[in-house]
Amino acid sequence: QPFDWFCVFDVEATCRENNNGWAHEIIEFPVVLIDARSFSVCDEFRSFVRPLINPELTDFCTQLTGITQDQVENAPTFPEVLKLFESFLSKHQIKHSRMAFITDGPWDIRDFVRNQCVYSNIKLPSYLSSYIDLRRMFTKFYGRKEGKRANLNGMLSLLGMQFEGREHSGIDDSRNIARIVLRLMDEGCVFDSTKS
Ligand code: AMP
Ligand code: MG
Repeated sequence: QPFDWFCVFDVEATCRENNNGWAHEIIEFPVVLIDARSFSVCDEFRSFVRPLINPELTDFCTQLTGITQDQVENAPTFPEVLKLFESFLSKHQIKHSRMAFITDGPWDIRDFVRNQCVYSNIKLPSYLSSYIDLRRMFTKFYGRKEGKRANLNGMLSLLGMQFEGREHSGIDDSRNIARIVLRLMDEGCVFDSTKS
């Protein structure tokens, strides 16, 4: 594997039933850290994030994600969470160039993180400028046809696995994505290509 570390990542964001024109702010920033040399999960990072444009979560959002008003109200802001995450990387002596993010589809980084950086008026950190899209890797590895890309539950079920925990909880989504990643690594899939 060309990387030593993988950060499996699945953000949750503010939302409402009809998202048209809604500014999605990140409210949960969870990472499951995989050591690619031992093919194992070695740590987790998780922080809730305080939204500033729409500080009050909708009931719909709390029902979808399980995230409560209390959890976001006292949470650090997005730039503060990035600093905490960078300390987490330092603690593990992770070189940014030897680490890659893995997400389920392009949305987490291409849309949620990029937009959040605009809302927070900060530069996109270099370590978030590219990522590995698990759905693409999965499709390529198993030779499934384009357009037959399976979602998280679809990939689990194709592997004979079931979702563990609560769907749309960022940390549980990340843990389940990590289970698929480990299974693919076990079967010889090389996680090399990243996409900006
Ligand atoms: P997920 O990783 O599937 O839990 O989704 C990430 C984020 O996308 C959620 O935190 C919501 O902000 C938004 N989202 C996902 N599913 C829905 C939905 N059915 N309706 C509205 N927003 C959604
Ligand atoms: Mg999720």
